[in-house]
Amino acid sequence: MSVENRLGRLRNTLAGNEIDGILISSPENRRYISGFTGSAGYLLVSESDAVLATDFRYVEQADRQAPDFRVERITSAYGWLTDLMSDMEVRRLGFEGHDLTVATHCALGKAIEESNAANSHDLVMVDGVIEELRAFKDPHEITLLTRAVEIADQALDRVAPSIAAGIREKEVAWELEKSMREIGAEAMAFDIIVGAGANGALPHHKASETVIGDGDPVVIDMGATYEGYCSDLTRTVFVGEPSDKFREVYSTVLTAQLEAEDKIRPGMTGAETDAISRQIISDAGYGDNFGHSLGHGVGLAVHESPGVGPRSNSPLDNGMVFTVEPGIYLSGWGGVRIEDIVLLENGRARVLSRAHKLSF
Ligand code: ZN
Ligand code: ZN
Repeated sequence: MSVENRLGRLRNTLAGNEIDGILISSPENRRYISGFTGSAGYLLVSESDAVLATDFRYVEQADRQAPDFRVERITSAYGWLTDLMSDMEVRRLGFEGHDLTVATHCALGKAIEESNAANSHDLVMVDGVIEELRAFKDPHEITLLTRAVEIADQALDRVAPSIAAGIREKEVAWELEKSMREIGAEAMAFDIIVGAGANGALPHHKASETVIGDGDPVVIDMGATYEGYCSDLTRTVFVGEPSDKFREVYSTVLTAQLEAEDKIRPGMTGAETDAISRQIISDAGYGDNFGHSLGHGVGLAVHESPGVGPRSNSPLDNGMVFTVEPGIYLSGWGGVRIEDIVLLENGRARVLSRAHKLSF
């Protein structure tokens, strides 16, 4: 979908939210709607106008990357915004409550009050508008996401055979990072997780100085960024001959994942999808040891809409991309998590992740 279409779809949401303009401050939403990749700036979009306001460092870049926007250079605290609001006849201005800080909101409110003492101008919190648009990926986005997925897959398959007793978690993480960069990542999507032995029971343990031991399960969670789009991949490997306990836990998690991937259909809610895996893990006696959601949307952000957890009541639909990542975490022993990225298309989940999985 072109940026112009995205702008049109955003404009279509203004009336329903009872606003006549929206201020976009979150970096991913700014990029999604305008094409501008700089790290600072705001979009102000009304029915008939679209402005990208940024500072001196980014004016030239903004002109190049966001041809559908009028670029304004920010030279004052908030005077530029109140001036634009009156030029564009925006009286009810939507803002992103999840992104705008309380301090900015206060300063903005004060600037509006001072500039329009006689008029009524409102700031209206409108969350999730662009996130809902972003949940559906167009073909170009799917191409970029697929590349981000491939980079992580290839890096993990390159490094996994060298994981052995005596190596530190951090060394594994560094090899994975180097490989992802060599294969084409522009950045890491997040800090790589390598959790050996008992560390694997902490779902978001960071790679540490811990030395991997013989008989350790090792949880690896990693992702690459490619042209702004993120991948997110988890595999669990075993160092040495897999124990009976590991085989049992791993097989349970893998079954929970494969069943969910097989049964996901458009129209099911995130909660219904989550329940497929959760039931299998509960039946195996590990219900209390799967303490996070089954998955999450992934795109310009590593965690975005749609939600795929016990409290996610929105339906999944064709065009959505999200993770399926059940896990079992046993304090003192370790953990097993297996995470794929899937694309819901033609009524089924197509698994994009290709990195090798153990199977027993
Ligand atoms: Zn992950
Ligand atoms: Zn994830």
